[in-house]
Amino acid sequence: MLQKYDPRNKDILIYVKDELVPRDEAKVSVFDSVVQGGDAVWEGLRVYNGGVFCLDRHLERLQHSAKAMAFTQVPTSEEITEKLFETLKANDMYDDTHIRLTLTRGEKTTSGMDPRLNAFGPTLIIVPEWKPPVYDNESGIRLITSTIRRNSPMHVDSKIHHNNLINNILAKIQANVAGVDAALMLDAYGFASELNGTNIFMVRKGELFTPHADACLHGITRGLVIELARKAGIPCIEKNISLTELYNADMVFCTGTMGELTPIVEIDGREINQERSVFTQLLALFEEIKGKYCIPIS
Ligand code: PMP
Repeated sequence: MLQKYDPRNKDILIYVKDELVPRDEAKVSVFDSVVQGGDAVWEGLRVYNGGVFCLDRHLERLQHSAKAMAFTQVPTSEEITEKLFETLKANDMYDDTHIRLTLTRGEKTTSGMDPRLNAFGPTLIIVPEWKPPVYDNESGIRLITSTIRRNSPMHVDSKIHHNNLINNILAKIQANVAGVDAALMLDAYGFASELNGTNIFMVRKGELFTPHADACLHGITRGLVIELARKAGIPCIEKNISLTELYNADMVFCTGTMGELTPIVEIDGREINQERSVFTQLLALFEEIKGKYCIPIS
């Protein structure tokens, strides 16, 4: 397993609802919508060198998810930022930190699906933890293709970053059973969509390809990599990508807050070529802009 408990997180303070509490006391009600129906939206963020990476982009996506889910009384991005910075400062966390930020629809007056039972406004949960990136950008990760498909807008729009993660969790279980690091998920037509927790890219003859963001999350890191590639003159094309194309690519890598840019070295038992020049160039460009895209903790 690539993730494990870090003893530095033993005494961290967590923000729940309106207060900062020690992790053992951080709890939500059994009537909270996240318990009742996974009815919540979330963001995973990283802190680098005194700032929160792409905080503006993450908060914009959170607001869009909350609007799509018709949440009411949503705190503004400024209010969320204030609570986030308060939490980081209380924990003295200015680097090497991962933040799991969740906004649930809030507590219900009685159990049930109907959002009209939510009389108290959303619950904000901020979990900051000491955590280096989960994936290594040198050794890379191994994948299997999951039988679980990623949602298309036909079902639940993958552009909502919601807490109903059952599809992705089932896919991850298949990866665990197969003894590899992560699962590749296909869309409804059998084209590659994304991994259970990151987006996917393929390099072929110096060009970069990634699936359309129709059945995958429009990852912040994915967006940045597309921007960086195009600025550097590397053609980046969004298209349907089949498994055969991935197996035969010059290189395949994944992107996301959990691992930044990570090589994929094996898919379904096929060794993937490691022609890394485009990847190395993108990784260097990503490192270069990290500081510039961090919003300082103040
Ligand atoms: N895909 C899925 C399913 C995810 O959950 C995430 C991260 N939460 C990503 C991709 C990567 O997105 P980002 O680059 O914004 O971290």
